[in-house]
Amino acid sequence: YLLKLVDDGSLNILWEIRCPDFDCNSVILRTHNLSEIMGKEIECDYCENGLLVRRQHVFPVFEINDDFREFLKQSKKKQVNYLHAL
Ligand SMILES: [Zn+2]
Repeated sequence: YLLKLVDDGSLNILWEIRCPDFDCNSVILRTHNLSEIMGKEIECDYCENGLLVRRQHVFPVFEINDDFREFLKQSKKKQVNYLHAL
C-alpha cells in the first residue's frame, strides 16, 4: 500500500543506513540516492565504527509529501492512524 502512495507522489521514499553494531544501531545517514552510497565506506558518527555500505545496512523509509500531509490533517484522525509510526 505504501509503495502505491510513492507511485502517486503522496509519499517519497528514502534510504536509511543503519549502524550494524547491535549496541549502537544508529541511523548514520539518510539519502534519496541509494546508488550514490552503495559500496562506499562511511563511519558511524556515534560509535565511530567504519562501515562498507551493503544491502543489509539499508532500510527504506517513507517521507510524507507536504501536500499529502495537509490532506491528512483534514482527514479524520482514525483514518491516519496507520501513518502514526512515520
Ligand atoms: Zn554506530
